Amino acid sequence: MVLPASPIAGPAPWQRALAEVIRDPAELLQRLHLDPALLPAARRAAELFPLRVPREFVARMTPGDPDDPLLRQVLPLDLEHAAPAGFATDPVADHRARSGPGVLQKYHGRALLITTGACAVHCRYCFRRHYPYDQDNASRQAWRQAVAHLAGQDDVDEVILSGGDPLTLSDRRLTALTRQLDALPRLRRLRLHSRLPVVLPARVDAGLLDWLGSTRLQTVMVIHANHPRELDGDVATAAASLRGAGITMLNQSVLLRGVNDQVETLAELSERLFEIGVLPYYLHLLDPVLGAAHFDVAEDQARALHRALAARLPGYLVPRLAREQPGAAGKTILA
Ligand SMILES: *Cc1c(COP(=O)(O)O)cnc(C)c1O
Ligand code: SF4
Repeated sequence: MVLPASPIAGPAPWQRALAEVIRDPAELLQRLHLDPALLPAARRAAELFPLRVPREFVARMTPGDPDDPLLRQVLPLDLEHAAPAGFATDPVADHRARSGPGVLQKYHGRALLITTGACAVHCRYCFRRHYPYDQDNASRQAWRQAVAHLAGQDDVDEVILSGGDPLTLSDRRLTALTRQLDALPRLRRLRLHSRLPVVLPARVDAGLLDWLGSTRLQTVMVIHANHPRELDGDVATAAASLRGAGITMLNQSVLLRGVNDQVETLAELSERLFEIGVLPYYLHLLDPVLGAAHFDVAEDQARALHRALAARLPGYLVPRLAREQPGAAGKTILA
């Protein structure tokens, strides 16, 4: 649990919600009135990667539906024990891209900082589900080292805070970090990749907005929503506050079998994102991480879906179809 900003104030509501996320598969099944027969498999797969989901995200799921597209993203299944050829523990070769303590540098101009290993939600398809965060993240003392490393990289003008989820860190810690980044003259942009505005929108509070207002860097936030039903009224309010603070809002999704592999769903996702002031950025093909093969959508089918999407939406609502290829100079754009 993160320390409160001041000993008098106590934890913020979002910090309490983060401390109270559902971790027990039995509780998740019970809340959604699902068949207890799902429990043994859920417990077995949770040993590979623990269950973790905020209560307010669960409240957006349909009770009694084991195929609910939000539930599918978080419920551990026996299918995760499958180990088909081509699926690996480090599918995007993060190990090779490590250029300093907690720093991943794959692409020109952009350095990615692993700020923490913690997330509010555990997404079963996560490509970092096997990442050795405890050995390599830029939190605590290591930040100083990571920033010192960045200071020596004179071709980097954008720092991407990633993880884990950087917004699980307290505003105080984030402010300390951006104060150091602000002092690097070459830096122009700060980018945040976070699922918190979606799964725990209470995170977007006055403290967070104060922090974002305190940096000199132009700020971009990439939220991660995969299905239109993730974007309820509270998410809309959070997105409006962020936009009000001058943040450019983008979304990236992963194309997931059984979650969003229908053109109607993807079109509604883009429409809903625009309604709340967020532009679609990337639609990623699944990274072939061990344990997530059942989410895979074949590349041909992905291209066909993307064509159908482009045929029915204005261009600015069509995300780029992308995949990450180890060693490439950027994401590989398929369409
Ligand atoms: C995806 C990624 C980026 C960002 O790529 P964009 O195409 O700019 O969104 C930067 N660094 C790393 C290591 C990445 O994996
Ligand atoms: S929030 Fe992001 S980093 Fe965390 S488990 Fe989900 S996909 Fe992975």
